[in-house]
Amino acid sequence: MTDTVSRRHHVVVIGSGFGGLFAAKRLKRAGVDVTMISRTTHHLFQPLLYQVATGILSEGEIAPAAREVLRRRKYLEILLGDVTDIDLDAHTVTSVAGDASTVTPYDSLIVAAGATTSYFGHDEFAANAPGLKSVDDALELRARILAAFEYAELEADEKARDEWLTFAVVGAGATGVEMAGQISELAHRTLVKEFRRIDTRRTRIVLVDALDDVLGTFGTKLSAGAARQLEKMGVEVWLSERVVDVDDHSITVEDRSGARTRLPARTVVWAAGVQASSLTKTLAEQSGAELDRGGRVKVQPDCTLPGHPDVFVIGDMMSLNDYPGVAQVAMQQGKYAADAIRGRLRHKPEPKPFHYFDKGSMATISRFRAVASIGPFRFGGFIAWVLWLIVHIMYLVGFKNRVTTVLHWAVSFIGRGRAQRAVSDRLMISRSTPSTTSQPS
Ligand SMILES: Cc1cc2nc3c(=O)[nH]c(=O)nc-3n(C[C@H](O)[C@H](O)[C@H](O)COP(=O)(O)OP(=O)(O)OC[C@H]3O[C@@H](n4cnc5c(N)ncnc54)[C@H](O)[C@@H]3O)c2cc1C
Repeated sequence: MTDTVSRRHHVVVIGSGFGGLFAAKRLKRAGVDVTMISRTTHHLFQPLLYQVATGILSEGEIAPAAREVLRRRKYLEILLGDVTDIDLDAHTVTSVAGDASTVTPYDSLIVAAGATTSYFGHDEFAANAPGLKSVDDALELRARILAAFEYAELEADEKARDEWLTFAVVGAGATGVEMAGQISELAHRTLVKEFRRIDTRRTRIVLVDALDDVLGTFGTKLSAGAARQLEKMGVEVWLSERVVDVDDHSITVEDRSGARTRLPARTVVWAAGVQASSLTKTLAEQSGAELDRGGRVKVQPDCTLPGHPDVFVIGDMMSLNDYPGVAQVAMQQGKYAADAIRGRLRHKPEPKPFHYFDKGSMATISRFRAVASIGPFRFGGFIAWVLWLIVHIMYLVGFKNRVTTVLHWAVSFIGRGRAQRAVSDRLMISRSTPSTTSQPS
């Protein structure tokens, strides 16, 4: 067991995602030492995970090493580790990586450990329906999606072939719509001339949601437009249908009258729900803070844990004023927490309550088509797609990543190709899919 000792005020930041990264950077002028502890070595730009899952971008382009991003910050060290305990009385964080267990003391703590996929109480679905929250998820999905076309090509039996060529995407929020749209583009543009025994244009893509609309948060008009656009692309949109079962050959949905439909499909993408990191339970047990239905900690207006002004909980882990679980909230709270720590060290008055400045949201449906909601304005189609392009280039971390991403986008959006189509068996073994070199069952 090792101890980290610091002389200056010591801030521990848990997580290298949006909240953690923006907090750590902002602490530059605070005159503190910072230890960032994260279970991943990278900073992940989750909004583009679907492009890794569908072969447009490489994982490196959206997940640069946190050490590289923060290499010039001399006040900061990075420790790889899964935080397993936070002791609020002792002011320590315990993390584990391999055989190493590390106890890191803190003066101030910023907890930004994000969220994981929620199967709404049906964790057994996970084996056959990977979520899309991590680089591993995206690479596994890529392997499954591309391999499904390979298996279909090998399959003599028509029914079995159709199962391989059916993709179910659960969840009609931004991620589900983006995945369904990209699988359609793969089938209708990228792969169309490459197979001899199957016609990839016969691919069936079904987007399922328990709610009544696609991209519900974007308002009725854009939502209806998005559904129409998806249908034009050959995506079947099944709304008001709740998934009640997933196995390795199908999903079963139930409508509001209780009628069930089984959809034979070998590839299922779970884009339906998130739940906060389990560290929220540790924090709630010790502080008496409440958790909301998504397992998020109800924080004070200044993003601190009730009764613990030295502990900030930010981003997808916290619940405050119904703020959404989006990158902008995490980034703005990261900066807010860093400024609050700096202000306290300079004996400044406590900051005003955190206020989220909503810069808007956007989602792509296909190449050249997106929806955007910015303040009172709603855009659809090509203008929204250009906006989406600009915003994502701006927020991607690292100059070289921006350059290679733009090149890969040109390959995929102007041409038909996809630069990232390698499928490794190792990407598929974590769940129950057969290997790419074994016969389809
Ligand atoms: C597929 C997808 C698409 C999205 N698209 C958009 C979008 O278009 N626009 C938008 O605004 N938002 C989008 N989001 C949401 C956005 O990515 C999140 O709101 C944002 O990442 C939250 O930031 P965070 O810092 O709270 O958590 P994260 O960015 O998830 O970071 C959490 C960090 O904590 C680390 N960690 C987790 N548990 C532990 C532990 N026990 N110990 C140590 N480290 C730990 C993780 O490795 C990670 O580094 C999307 C999310 C997903 C999954």
